[in-house]
Amino acid sequence: MKSLKLFLFLLIAMVMIGCDKEQTVADYGIIPLPQETQLQEGAPFVLSANTKIVYPAGNEDLKRIAHFLVDYVKFTTNAQLSAIESGNDAANAIILSADLSHENKDAYNLTVTDKQIVLKGASATGVFYGVQTLRKSMDANSLDKDIAFPQVVINDYPRFQYRGMMLDVARHMFPVEFIKEFIDLLALHNMNTFHWHITDDQGWRIEIKNYSELTEKGSQRAETVIKKNTGKFDGKPYGGFYTQAEAKEIVAYAQERFINVIPEVDLPGHMLGALTAYPHLGCTGGPYAVEGTWGVFDDVVCAGNDEVVVFLKDVFTEIMEIFPSQYIHVGGDECPKVRWEKCPKCQAKIKELDLKSDKEHSKEERLQSYIISEVEKFINSKGRSIIGWDEILEGGLAPNATVMSWRGIEGGVAAAQQNHDVIMVPTSHFYFDYYQTTDIDNAPFGIGGYVPIEKVYSFDPVFSELTTEQSKHILGVQANLWTEYVKSPEHAEYMLLPRMDALTEVQWTDPKLKNYDQFEQRLLKMMKYYDRKKYNYATTIFDIKANIEPDTKNNRLNVELVTLGDEAIHYTLDGSEPTKGSPIYSEIVKIGKPLELKAESFREGEHKFKYSNKFEFSKSTVRAITLNPEPTKSYTFNGAITLVDGSRGNPNNYKDGSWIGFYGQDVEATIDLKEDTEFSTVKVGTYICTGDWIFGLKSLTVLTSTDGEIFKQVDSQLFEQPTEHVELAKQEEITFASQNARYVRIVMHTVNALPKWHSGAGKKAYLFLDEIIVD
Ligand SMILES: [Zn+2]
Repeated sequence: MKSLKLFLFLLIAMVMIGCDKEQTVADYGIIPLPQETQLQEGAPFVLSANTKIVYPAGNEDLKRIAHFLVDYVKFTTNAQLSAIESGNDAANAIILSADLSHENKDAYNLTVTDKQIVLKGASATGVFYGVQTLRKSMDANSLDKDIAFPQVVINDYPRFQYRGMMLDVARHMFPVEFIKEFIDLLALHNMNTFHWHITDDQGWRIEIKNYSELTEKGSQRAETVIKKNTGKFDGKPYGGFYTQAEAKEIVAYAQERFINVIPEVDLPGHMLGALTAYPHLGCTGGPYAVEGTWGVFDDVVCAGNDEVVVFLKDVFTEIMEIFPSQYIHVGGDECPKVRWEKCPKCQAKIKELDLKSDKEHSKEERLQSYIISEVEKFINSKGRSIIGWDEILEGGLAPNATVMSWRGIEGGVAAAQQNHDVIMVPTSHFYFDYYQTTDIDNAPFGIGGYVPIEKVYSFDPVFSELTTEQSKHILGVQANLWTEYVKSPEHAEYMLLPRMDALTEVQWTDPKLKNYDQFEQRLLKMMKYYDRKKYNYATTIFDIKANIEPDTKNNRLNVELVTLGDEAIHYTLDGSEPTKGSPIYSEIVKIGKPLELKAESFREGEHKFKYSNKFEFSKSTVRAITLNPEPTKSYTFNGAITLVDGSRGNPNNYKDGSWIGFYGQDVEATIDLKEDTEFSTVKVGTYICTGDWIFGLKSLTVLTSTDGEIFKQVDSQLFEQPTEHVELAKQEEITFASQNARYVRIVMHTVNALPKWHSGAGKKAYLFLDEIIVD
């Protein structure tokens, strides 16, 4: 009976589609989501091996786009379509033209009827994006099948004109083939800018014919530090560069896909590659060596040496020959001034230019502005414009520069208020070298941080501080892939995908249309394509996530478990590994005592998706807590409750929301234990990462009160401080004679000043805190 039903169903299906070939159905719910999609009634357009792609006679751009579409269809269905000039038979055809009238040149209109698909762009670029939409609407698993395109009218255009991605090839470089794959990924995601970070302290990677030692010496480092500046090295020389011919090939490949390549030569800091080759360009004269560690280095180019300006002009002359980009990136970030403060040439230049320190800027910061403006004047004289990182705001900004705001949102807002064009790239949302999961034991080693895909998706680059007029200066958004720890194409793919999908909806789609849950569903379709391309993408969207709601009234934690789709989550509360026989999660789990929650979804495929958390309960867990002062803005996350939520901070990552951070201040936490309670110990979790200026507790003082008004000191204790660089999570403890009180106040004293051995000696330290345990 069952098989008869199936047979009838298939028969009807075959009759309905009127052909003998299997079909898949195109779905216009793609990434980025088009601005307007109106499905129409009626029979679909069926794309088969006989479908033709028609472009206007003599239009080379559209001819090229037509052939891209031929390739995309070939990849998807195996059918080899033909691309023909208009004037020929246009039945069963996809017809391309660039005659759409629209103020946005990237706009396109796509109309599907049962007879044909008509794609009109406001320019060739618009047609290209329309073709990307057609390509992404096809089911990636359509080999040897026809594709039915439901009738539709799509009107689409991007929200922002600048849609970029940066790739760093100085720390680790990638073969030309991968650079092209990277460009393909940009095209797939409707992006139009490839920002290429091509020189840095760890290597100069672009051939400059007039300065051959830049690549002979400046591209080679003796060895590379293992992991995060551990002091241990791999002992392997590392080097390489792109010839001008290769760079031009990459530029042409990008141009064919309507992508502009912005080269970045980072100056006046991050120049050890160049200084190693030409030590006379530095303040001390060297010798210098291409760096094998990561970070910011004191040796920068000498801003008082006129030969440096000549050198930079020569370099940019060749750079502008290779890269036709209107924008040229000059870096400008992370330039320490310690050499300039001592250098006679730099100080003489400061005198000559009559630069003065004031409240806002030191004279050395003004010297940096001088050197950037010299470069800017030169680049402007060739009809091009500069972009720089947001530090170029310091010391007075070069007048025509566009600012790339990375340190936060404030820099971008300030620049827009000063009527400078801005590209938003804040670390908090768009640093794709940061982890995308908290389960970092199962992720490739990385720089730290936590930028999950939801966070990327949530960004809106238009801020309430800006007037409508100022908002127009926000040209767009970009994400950056720095490669200190990213050594292979596979690792790069993992960092990029699928976060690029979230990025493109920030760049392209009207925020009113954005919806994260629907985005995830659309992403599943994109992943089918990634599977077919064998890209190594991250599968974190399938992770089980726990939303933990502390309920201080009932002294418990309400835990919600979620995962993508309707996949069942099995869980245990006794620390045992869940099996398919374990209870299926269906409602919030209420936790009021110590236990270990483990959960797992048994999805098909090789990936396992697990969650586990050991909840600890002490006398302070889920009790009302107040902090003075509040944590710093960037490290507030869920605020004070984090310190009594029964969960320890991630021992490998202080930026993932499980710790809260303070800068340069003692912290006072007051906990209401609800009734008089006996206790004799207090434990406080801290995270120490001296390289990031994070030190632990200097001392701990405990006070108690019965009324919450008058506190008396119980005890105080000092702790040892690191004498060399370390990174670890630590728990400090103080024990005292048993107390009986309702209120306990814990004063956590921070290190007043970074120690002498530290590069930031004398400056304030960060303090990162987690679970406070009172027992
Ligand atoms: Zn100097």
